[in-house]
Amino acid sequence: MKKILVIVMDGLGDRPNPELGGRTALQAAYRPNLNYLASRGLNGLMFPVKEGVRSGSDTSHLSILGYDTFSVYTGRGPFEAMGLGMEVMPGDIAFRANFAYMNEDGIIEDRRAGRISESTEQLCRAISLEIDGVKFMVKNGVEHRAALVMHGAGLSDRITDSDPHVVGKSPENVRALAPEADFTAEVLNKYLEKIRPILKTHGYNKARTQSGNLPATELLLRGAGKAPTLDSFPDKFGLKAGCVVGIPLISGICRLAGIDVVNYEGATGTVKTNYQGKIAAALRALETRDFVLVNIKAPDIAGHDGKPELKRDVIQESDKAFGQIIPHLDNIVVAITGDHSTPCSIKEHSGDPVPLLIASDGMNRDGVSRYDEVSATRGSLRLKSTDLMDVLMSASDRSEKYGA
Ligand code: ZN
Ligand code: ZN
Repeated sequence: MKKILVIVMDGLGDRPNPELGGRTALQAAYRPNLNYLASRGLNGLMFPVKEGVRSGSDTSHLSILGYDTFSVYTGRGPFEAMGLGMEVMPGDIAFRANFAYMNEDGIIEDRRAGRISESTEQLCRAISLEIDGVKFMVKNGVEHRAALVMHGAGLSDRITDSDPHVVGKSPENVRALAPEADFTAEVLNKYLEKIRPILKTHGYNKARTQSGNLPATELLLRGAGKAPTLDSFPDKFGLKAGCVVGIPLISGICRLAGIDVVNYEGATGTVKTNYQGKIAAALRALETRDFVLVNIKAPDIAGHDGKPELKRDVIQESDKAFGQIIPHLDNIVVAITGDHSTPCSIKEHSGDPVPLLIASDGMNRDGVSRYDEVSATRGSLRLKSTDLMDVLMSASDRSEKYGA
């Protein structure tokens, strides 16, 4: 039995870029280690979630870990909260939130409180409190955005938004959409009532008013979602598992799945991340584990920014770090892929498949010796990300026999 290393290069897939002579970022990158690893095993295309789905990083990572997203994914709320670094436990209710300006008559005049440029962290802390055994935790996002997580027993996401979604109206009273949500709606309305005077009198808002900005006097809530209870990944596959990731969204998903989050030096989840350190940490983590997931966020960032040269460069940096894996192929099955494509030409996720290589000593080889979107089409593999774990379990001689 071998160990399994899955490296997800976030947003890896690309389309031809005029700036790179009509090549994808991957095709334009100097990538001797990726090409060598491609030559040591099987190659092909992986469809994130399934063919034609334009997936987010949350749904695609869930599917890479073998979960059926169509049954476990409960909406963006809990995943956006995790993305802000909040601890979200199974059964917690999470909302996307906006700081808004509500006037003295209780009417929302600006849904973004004039687009806040400075951090609302202290405001969020001031309105994180406990009512009737339910913990309300608020974390600041970009500008006027935030997330609210409710933690407690017997909570339901079958409730309406408080956000009226238009200006000139009062915030809505939260209503239960099912009897089991009565308590949740009631305690949430109590909470919103309680934080209004706190927001109104907070020094942060006094300072905003003095400097001619609209104060953030209301927290508008929308998109309630219940954090899913995932079957334990280690139990499902019989693997002692860890992850080396720099972004809270993915570490949050791993935590829900029962996968240890391994800390490493220089973790940033940006284009300046410590690539060598990340792969070294993954190999170290594998000494005491059977499975490690690595996420490298940088290609996605470059894709969203529409910067093909930057995307090429971060792939080259990653490639240098992948050289460390080669001496371990006797003991490790490595899969290198993307969680979705983020083509620089569209600056968004697309439904294009991503290249996949699976390499290890003693494996069959399919003759592909270059790692990119086009060379991958000549490889032998075509699979949905949901099936990747089963393929890797088999390649590492860990799968159970099906039949006699
Ligand atoms: Zn992603
Ligand atoms: Zn993205």
